[in-house]
Amino acid sequence: MNEYTLLIPRGITSNATVQLNHKKNIYLLFFCALPQWEEVSGYDEHMNTIRTYQVCNVFDSNQNNWVRTKYIRRRGAQRIHVEMKFSVRDCSSIPNVPGSCKETFNLYYYESDSDTATRTSPAWMENPWIKVDTIAADESFSQVDLGGRVMKINTEVRSFGPVSKNGFYLAFQDYGGCMSLIAVRVFYRKCPRIITNGALFQETLSGAESTSLVAARGVCIPNAEEVDVPIKLYCNGDGEWMVPIGRCMCKAGNEAVENGTVCRACPSGFFKPTQGDESCMQCPINSRTTSEGAINCICRNGYYRTDSDPLQMPCTTVPSAPQTVISSVNETSVMLEWMPPRDSGGREDVVYNIICKSCGGGRGGCTRCGDNVQFLPRQLGLTKSRVYISDLLAHTQYTFEVQAVNGVSDQSPYSPQYASVNITTNQAAPSTVSIMHQVSRTVDSITLSWSQPDQPNGVILDYELQYYEKDQSEYNSTTIRSQTNTAVIRGLKSGSIYVFQVRARTVAGFGRYSGKLYFQTMTEGENSKLPLIIGSAAAGLVFLIALWLFPIFQVSPGMKIYIDPFTYEDPNEAVREFAKEIDISCVKIEQVIGAGEFGEVCSGNLKLPGKREMFVAIKTLKSGYTEKQRRDFLSEASIMGQFDHPNVIHLEGVVTKSSPVMIITEFMENGSLDTFLRQNDGQFTVIQLVGMLRGIASGMKYLADMNYVHRDLAARNILVNSNLVCKVSDFGLSRFLEDDTSDPTYTSGGKIPIRWTAPEAIQYRKFTSASDVWSYGIVMWEVMSYGERPYWDMTNQDVINAIEQDYRLPPPMDCPNALHQLMLDCWQKDRNNRPKFSQIVNNLDKMIRNPNTLKAMTPLSSGIPDFSTFSTVDEWLDAIKMGQYKENFANSDFSTFDVVSQMTMDDILRIGVTLAGHQKKILNSVQMMRAQMNQIQSVEV
Ligand code: AMP
Repeated sequence: MNEYTLLIPRGITSNATVQLNHKKNIYLLFFCALPQWEEVSGYDEHMNTIRTYQVCNVFDSNQNNWVRTKYIRRRGAQRIHVEMKFSVRDCSSIPNVPGSCKETFNLYYYESDSDTATRTSPAWMENPWIKVDTIAADESFSQVDLGGRVMKINTEVRSFGPVSKNGFYLAFQDYGGCMSLIAVRVFYRKCPRIITNGALFQETLSGAESTSLVAARGVCIPNAEEVDVPIKLYCNGDGEWMVPIGRCMCKAGNEAVENGTVCRACPSGFFKPTQGDESCMQCPINSRTTSEGAINCICRNGYYRTDSDPLQMPCTTVPSAPQTVISSVNETSVMLEWMPPRDSGGREDVVYNIICKSCGGGRGGCTRCGDNVQFLPRQLGLTKSRVYISDLLAHTQYTFEVQAVNGVSDQSPYSPQYASVNITTNQAAPSTVSIMHQVSRTVDSITLSWSQPDQPNGVILDYELQYYEKDQSEYNSTTIRSQTNTAVIRGLKSGSIYVFQVRARTVAGFGRYSGKLYFQTMTEGENSKLPLIIGSAAAGLVFLIALWLFPIFQVSPGMKIYIDPFTYEDPNEAVREFAKEIDISCVKIEQVIGAGEFGEVCSGNLKLPGKREMFVAIKTLKSGYTEKQRRDFLSEASIMGQFDHPNVIHLEGVVTKSSPVMIITEFMENGSLDTFLRQNDGQFTVIQLVGMLRGIASGMKYLADMNYVHRDLAARNILVNSNLVCKVSDFGLSRFLEDDTSDPTYTSGGKIPIRWTAPEAIQYRKFTSASDVWSYGIVMWEVMSYGERPYWDMTNQDVINAIEQDYRLPPPMDCPNALHQLMLDCWQKDRNNRPKFSQIVNNLDKMIRNPNTLKAMTPLSSGIPDFSTFSTVDEWLDAIKMGQYKENFANSDFSTFDVVSQMTMDDILRIGVTLAGHQKKILNSVQMMRAQMNQIQSVEV
């Protein structure tokens, strides 16, 4: 109900006001009437008794009969409505009625701030009164029985405004009719207080005109917010709200209840992410709320969402490991296939990453594979459960971890779950030799040199060079073999062009031939130093290959021998002759990698004009050197510069024209062999170790052929590159010449590395290639024992005495008999009985070709000390060089020999020994301990 009655019955005096109809709450409350109006009783159409004001002076002319209401307070209303119930007598039904008879009356109002009206004021006339309307009856009655007969009642409503004073009076003017006023209701309209569209609107009064719209601003209910525009409603003249503009909606975390009149916080376990009409939603699986009114549900521990996961989606977790990885190795490639993880973590976006670890190519245990390994279709983010991996090294152990990752893996603090598979690659032929150059030529010979294949895939046994005269058929070609990567081809025709191709051979067979290259012999009288233009006929292109004349001292054609730089009167002359001067601008030092005898050893880059930039090692001569130190330092370069062999460290050149003085050599990624082996204890296959030994022997054969005696062959002087190729290095002479020393490796008084040196060299300085062979035997022992110190902690003098009494080093653990036998051969007292390096190379090649010959092992006990000579497990661990695990043993209560002797591989794993080589070593030593215990017990029995 939007109508509010202004006229109320209370406080009304009976002679001036009449309550006409109680039930309908309609009152006629007249205060003042002129005497023509009479108060009379009658009946309405329902035969209820009613009281009316009547007037009926139709026979008198000039009627002007007024009746006025009491003062009516306005109470804020601007427009007043008046409902009148009345009946009017039909003039034509009155016999003899004059023409002045009326069937209408007038309605007036008068505004006043207080109730000041009297019998005479305001005056009974239009102006001061304001006329609202002339009211006519819809129905009139022709016969009226004022003594109790039925009347027909009309109801008319009129309104007026604006009103602005505190109150007003109404007046009805009869001017000659016959009528009765039955009831008058006075009211105004207002729009009520409501909550709609999420906002509260306070009660608003209708406007002054019936067409007025009164704007009202709403206030959002608690926890609701306006959407876009301020919320408004209009109150119309009928007291109805209309034209809603804007709206309020419950904020995120709140939902509308009770018909949209209340925004209630989402109960716990429910959430609502945004403002709006939606209801709160139940938390998805694996998530929860921490309080009421949640705008999202947080994932339970161990469950996650990605930024793009909808909040309605269950929280997910990392996938379990892929299952059953199957590998199929094909030479140096492997196909890995696996089953998807048992548990995808609840996500659809599982992909796989492959981690490749090579257990043989780098420093320190297994190392990540280099960039050269190829993965098809790719290494990371594999969507299918298979990958093809190629370009692995031959004969190498690899571990592949197949990680399963999904969209939330990077949020988990735990590294992805993976399944791993170990494989060992097979033999593979070497890759193609890509660079070949002419070193020199004569009228009937050409000397060629080429690079080692990028992927040797094993120890290169030799190279095969095929050549034929350009004008001849390829079928007439000649092949020759070369142990090194140089060859002198003789017996050629002068001034003729020859086609050359070379291929490398390993145990796995030949690699593919290189592209064809053309070289021409000299014509009679031609100057040999002119560069040559050579071309590849196969490609139809012409290449200009820089001629790189290597300083080779020629005794007889093809035979090179080494020249001691100290035989030069001016050793600088030797440097100039054998070492290329490099301009310092071509050298970029990157970092210090070690300390040499004369200064720091650094790694860096060398970019020679017209050549590819290469990674190099740079030995520097520290400042403040004496002339002698400079000479000694550079002597190494003049020696190295004379060598060119894949197993001898290669000199790039020297920097002598600027300071500091430098010697620049090829870079060997894995550093010196002894350290490298210690860092990778137990990590290589026997074939790999033999491959390294073969390389060292091959380099030594080359040096021996050059008549060069090394004198300090030891694992510490062998460098290892990333392909596991070993190269002989350290050609410094100085230490043999000087007398003072603090280095315990070398004896004082001549600086001889006692443990590596043959007895005749120690005794009377008889250094020969045969004494190098003795040292080589020690290197073999160092390699097979992964860098163990020869003769352990024995003193130099004890070593000399022991050797004199025919004691020789026992085979290291897991050392094949055939290799120990070769060591023993190298340690023959009579140097003439020792094998030559060429024989050693052949011997090792045979072993590589027939790995079965490497199967026979010396009994376990060798190299493992008797536990009974130690009083504690710690001492015993030190003795087997596993002292680093003392705490692991003690923490797991393996602290007496009785318990240790019962250890199984599982126990060793459980206490935290993770390296395979160490596990094996400890297990062997435990087994040995058990055997020794049994022996003791049986002796005691
Ligand atoms: P040296 O003075 O030759 O004994 O060198 C000292 C140390 O520097 C060696 O033990 C190696 O670790 C390192 N080094 C020497 N030459 C090279 C190289 N060509 N490549 C990498 N490291 C090297």
